[in-house]
Amino acid sequence: MINITDKTQCCGCQACANACPKACISMQADEEGFLYPHIDSSKCIGCNLCEKVCPIIRKPTTTPVLASYAAKHKNTDVKLKSSSGSMFSAIAEVILKEGG
Ligand code: SF4
Ligand code: SF4
Repeated sequence: MINITDKTQCCGCQACANACPKACISMQADEEGFLYPHIDSSKCIGCNLCEKVCPIIRKPTTTPVLASYAAKHKNTDVKLKSSSGSMFSAIAEVILKEGG
């Protein structure tokens, strides 16, 4: 069961409150307005789901990046209308040209 004794160990993401099957975790604001979980231990069934979903307790696993690529549309007009490099447009154009 989640038990916050050090506020640096909680980012207030609410994952624990959302995951609790007994809805016994409520997010309550501290004196500065930051939300932290409070558990009604009388309803807790000890399933530990709250700890399993907590990103602070259970650090996310990382996988090595094997390769990465960057690309941009060759047409500057198209590119300037895009929020990124307009690669969606470029790929969509080719796929539609080939029948979808
Ligand atoms: S241990 Fe299970 S029931 Fe208890 S607070 Fe955590 S998620 Fe809720
Ligand atoms: S899941 Fe962990 S970090 Fe997120 S609010 Fe609950 S205790 Fe804090």
